[in-house]
Amino acid sequence: MIMSEKLVTIKEVVLKNNCPECYNNEGLRLIFKQKIIDTKLYRSTTSQMSHEIACKTCHNIIYPVKWTDDIERVFEYQKKAFVPQKSSIYLKKTSWIAIILAIIIAIAVILIVVYPNL
Ligand SMILES: [Zn+2]
Repeated sequence: MIMSEKLVTIKEVVLKNNCPECYNNEGLRLIFKQKIIDTKLYRSTTSQMSHEIACKTCHNIIYPVKWTDDIERVFEYQKKAFVPQKSSIYLKKTSWIAIILAIIIAIAVILIVVYPNL
């Protein structure tokens, strides 16, 4: 079965902190991502989260080792304030067709059993 997993950006927060790489204070973004599994039959939002800090000015990913105390503080605060999307599963058309077919077959079988002379 073809299955893809991807991290989708759920929320982006502009940070006022100075970038540890380029020292610009307008570029930092804290990005929250959530993992989504996509298959032929369903699409599922998982509870698996990931986050990163990136700078739009110098295009660097700022890894936690480079974080200043200020960035760490803002990150902790934002992490608490962040509300992830509920994990969920959406069935796709293929699934619904399979379910409807299964119901039709079940009804047919029941009718044949109950009314064998029909
Ligand atoms: Zn930067």
